Amino acid sequence: MQTADVVIIGAGIVGSSIAYHLTAQGCRNVLVIERESAQGKGSTGKSMGGVRAQFSTPVSIQMSLYSIPFYASFEERLGSPCDYRPQGYLFCATNEKQLAYLQTNYAEQVRLGLKNVGLLAGDEIARMFPQLRGDDIIGGSFCSTDGFVDPYSAMNGFTAAATDRGATLWKHTPVTGIKRDAAGITSIETARGTISTRRLVNCAGAWAAEVAGFVGIDLPVEPLRRMLVPSEPFDEFPHTAPMIIDMSNGFHFRPEARGFLLAWNDPEETPGFKTDFDPGFIEKILTRAADRVPCFANLPVNPKRAWAGLYEMTPDHHPILGEAPGVPGFFLANGFSGHGVMHAPATGKILSDLILTGKTDLIDVSLLSLSRFAENRLIHETAVL
Ligand SMILES: Cc1cc2nc3c(=O)[nH]c(=O)nc-3n(C[C@H](O)[C@H](O)[C@H](O)COP(=O)(O)OP(=O)(O)OC[C@H]3O[C@@H](n4cnc5c(N)ncnc54)[C@H](O)[C@@H]3O)c2cc1C
Repeated sequence: MQTADVVIIGAGIVGSSIAYHLTAQGCRNVLVIERESAQGKGSTGKSMGGVRAQFSTPVSIQMSLYSIPFYASFEERLGSPCDYRPQGYLFCATNEKQLAYLQTNYAEQVRLGLKNVGLLAGDEIARMFPQLRGDDIIGGSFCSTDGFVDPYSAMNGFTAAATDRGATLWKHTPVTGIKRDAAGITSIETARGTISTRRLVNCAGAWAAEVAGFVGIDLPVEPLRRMLVPSEPFDEFPHTAPMIIDMSNGFHFRPEARGFLLAWNDPEETPGFKTDFDPGFIEKILTRAADRVPCFANLPVNPKRAWAGLYEMTPDHHPILGEAPGVPGFFLANGFSGHGVMHAPATGKILSDLILTGKTDLIDVSLLSLSRFAENRLIHETAVL
């Protein structure tokens, strides 16, 4: 029977980052198992690639404070690019409550050491982007080191660096079962046979609850469809723009290639494994786009290029990280609630620390343990895009 020191289920950006961080810390007998014929077919390949430190909770901010500088130095560290573009995130507030929320978040971000973040007055935003309808924008916040990465390049870079250091990737190999004894995990069942291991990491994204169910764990991670609409080439708005968020309704967009990528989280969406793009979404999002950016009334879009993917939602919109209570050797890296690309570097560091040394100093990981739900210690993050 084949043996691995650590087995990782799922080769998206999170599994790849954990594999990289493990090998970088000297643990080389790592096996990453992916059921699809190629990496990135889960949420990673569907992502908008946004990375930001402008969160409200300390733990999310701290994870970004590790991840964004990591992406900024990705090529130096790993030898391949991730296309980090520090074009910023600009939050536009349209009422006093939103503005107070940004001010509170700003104070917390600065307290934790975030630089390059600032509050803006409504007229400053109007001067920066006269193309925005600004009559109701009363202020905002901007961080210039927020921006975008290419999730595919980051995932592939992590995998290449991990395999160079000794890790192995198996594609086309569904994991179908997990075995345990009184001491914890003993082996897993796969389409290629049984693998013996004492340490296993669940990185199965929106499908993580099914994998946790193999050991009888009820994991509160639900799939939720999100849709993105790319435009055709369009030059009436600057391509140097940041991610711009209209806080009045959650519509946001960023430059992509020679056009723009539009996003809006439809509050009517219900949980489920739905990955078909709903053509009715185009009108809904274009209405909001043209309302905030009048020149987007002329924005050409081809519905055939639009797509849908899955967020992996937890009840408090924070990930579940660490060893599962009652199952020694079974580690969870799940439930990123739409932030898995931006928090993948920190997750790799945290999980590799926990697996190899039993502790991490990057965050207080007890805040993100699975037991917080049973113990009613939920964290509230309202800055979910
Ligand atoms: C439309 C959209 C926009 C987004 N925008 C952003 C953004 O701007 N910024 C951001 O940070 N995040 C964003 N996200 C979220 C982000 O994409 C995810 O949080 C992230 O990709 C999660 O990575 P992962 O590796 O955990 O999951 P995935 O990429 O889904 O990988 C999980 C893998 O596990 C495999 N798997 C599942 N079950 C098994 C099994 N039994 N055996 C073997 N393999 C298995 C799957 O095939 C899959 O490849 C967005 C998501 C969507 C859908």
